[in-house]
Amino acid sequence: MPLSHSPQPFQPKPQETWVKQSFWLLPGALSLVFVVGIVIWAEWNDAKVREAHRQTLVADASSVEAQLSARLDIERARLHDVSSQLAKRPERGDAILARLPEVVAGLDRLWSTLTWLDDDMQLIGRAKRGAPMRDLVSDELRIQTNESSGQAEHIDFKMVDSNGQFRGKLVARYEITDLLKSTDLVWLNHRYEVNFISELGEVIATTAQSTKPPQGLPFERPLSAFKQTTLRLTPYESLASWRLNPRILALLAGLLLLGAAASQLTRHEMRQVRRAIEDTQNEAAWRQSMEDSALVGLRARNAEGRILYVNKTLCDMVGYAREELVGVKPPLPFWPPDAVDAMMARNLRTLAGGAPSTGFETRWRHRKGDLIDVMIFESRLVNSSGDHIGWMGSIIDISERKRLEEKDRQHTDTLAQHARLNDMGLLASELAHELNQPLTTIVSYSAGLRVALTKIPTLEADVLAAVDEVHRHARKAGDIVNWIRRQTSRSDPLRTLFDINTLVAEVIELRQRQIQRIGADLTLDLANTACNSLVDRIGIEQVVTNLVRNAADAVAGNTGSRRIGVHSKVVAGIAHGGQAIEVTVTDNGPGLQGRTIDVLCSTFYSTKKDGMGLGLGICRSIVESHGGSLSAQENPGGGAQFTFTLPTNHTANMAQATL
Ligand code: ADP
Repeated sequence: MPLSHSPQPFQPKPQETWVKQSFWLLPGALSLVFVVGIVIWAEWNDAKVREAHRQTLVADASSVEAQLSARLDIERARLHDVSSQLAKRPERGDAILARLPEVVAGLDRLWSTLTWLDDDMQLIGRAKRGAPMRDLVSDELRIQTNESSGQAEHIDFKMVDSNGQFRGKLVARYEITDLLKSTDLVWLNHRYEVNFISELGEVIATTAQSTKPPQGLPFERPLSAFKQTTLRLTPYESLASWRLNPRILALLAGLLLLGAAASQLTRHEMRQVRRAIEDTQNEAAWRQSMEDSALVGLRARNAEGRILYVNKTLCDMVGYAREELVGVKPPLPFWPPDAVDAMMARNLRTLAGGAPSTGFETRWRHRKGDLIDVMIFESRLVNSSGDHIGWMGSIIDISERKRLEEKDRQHTDTLAQHARLNDMGLLASELAHELNQPLTTIVSYSAGLRVALTKIPTLEADVLAAVDEVHRHARKAGDIVNWIRRQTSRSDPLRTLFDINTLVAEVIELRQRQIQRIGADLTLDLANTACNSLVDRIGIEQVVTNLVRNAADAVAGNTGSRRIGVHSKVVAGIAHGGQAIEVTVTDNGPGLQGRTIDVLCSTFYSTKKDGMGLGLGICRSIVESHGGSLSAQENPGGGAQFTFTLPTNHTANMAQATL
């Protein structure tokens, strides 16, 4: 588990871009670009060399032509020499020509014939080569001429006398092959095979050697000296093109192969890496899913208590996002604010290794404010080297278990309270039984005492009044005791027709002292019409008593005014269209604070330190047993307002009204 940072929640792997996927092509592509670059450079270089070569060929061809022209110029100069010699001599005809050494030399050198014409272009004489021509050319340039080609050219020279008069013409005819044979082209021999081509495409002369065939491309150019002859230079060495260099080709091929191999290797490596990444991502996803689906919250903390990792369960438990928790150190945001000191002390104990191995319970606060009970098991967190680097906590939410335990406890309490109530009922029944006799005795004796006292003429009126009070209270106590006995003995309720207003007034009178003791102002506002109802008088008295006592308890906590109001009024009847009396007890205490009558009437529901939580429940059952109802609401002026209704006896009311 990586603990230096929190693992991010698993996210689907983003699609790799085409560029990233094709990264492996890079080495091959680079080597290809490199090779193409070299090829372009070599081609460019070849073109440059070819151009230089062509320039050389052109220059060499021009040199050949210039050499031939120079040669013809020399021959013309020789004709001039012959002309000068002839001008000095008187002879005419072929013989003189044959005798002149310049003519012999010319014929021997080049000329095939020399013709002498007069100014009318009539033949004067002619000399013709007899002996085979002497080879003037060095052995190095052995031109083989094609005797059969027979292409001939001529040069002529106009003869003029000292006065500038045209005297005739010398025409020297020569075979082109002879001219070529006698021209020194040695300097070309090393580099080219030189060919002279006739207009018919026949090779007139060549320097071809059987031992050394030319390799290069031929270069041809027409010779301006002779109209129908072409000069062809064919280099012995072909141009060294990179394309024909096997080493360069092998090098380039090797480079391409290396690039391709590097690409393949990269591709293989990329696949391996991608597979490894996928495996890691899958593993992380699985681990994340497992951790998130666990019911146990997990958190890892370093030695100083800073959170390194939390799983989803823990985040859900406390309502904070992973990012909000990771990196946080104590006090943690889910600690209840009122328990931070205690939590901090326990945290220090845990970090010091003092957490119980059996786990401990604590209470955290959900972000929304709810408290949650958790059970924490802390264990040592070690890294791959086995060093203790922090604490790993497993947290279980035990709120539900706690709630069930609490419910169970409340249920047990309720059972115990019921048992106590039962005992109390038995005790009340016993007490009522025991008290009945002395109270009856007090009532009889106080009645007898009153009769006896009335016979004393000097008796103070106060004494008689005191005896009357004793008698009245003893009777009231006796009635209550009898009522309790009836309730516990399940005998039928004893109901009498009674004016509820009178009943309420009597109860208030009895409660007056308690009301005065707490300094409350009492407002009594009773309906001024007869409100007779067939009731269990003691039971209804208990209802009014309980409501007034609760009102007194409610206002007792007021720091300001304490007000209690008791009102009654006649309202429309609950059933059969009759009438009913409605009695309302109000106060300016804390009010109901959202609680309904059902909650307030629940058995044993009480907010008082010494309350039993039975009063309102009993009141409601007494009122409802009379066909009436009990309700509670907020007093519009502040505090609470309890109202009960009882159906009234119309006939009795009418009868009382007519009296
Ligand atoms: P007890 O008086 O023993 O608590 P009751 O059944 O009479 O039992 O009353 C139940 C609860 O109803 C009280 O504990 C109190 O919280 C609430 N209560 C009753 N009367 C009033 C009142 N006038 N104002 C506010 N709360 C009241």
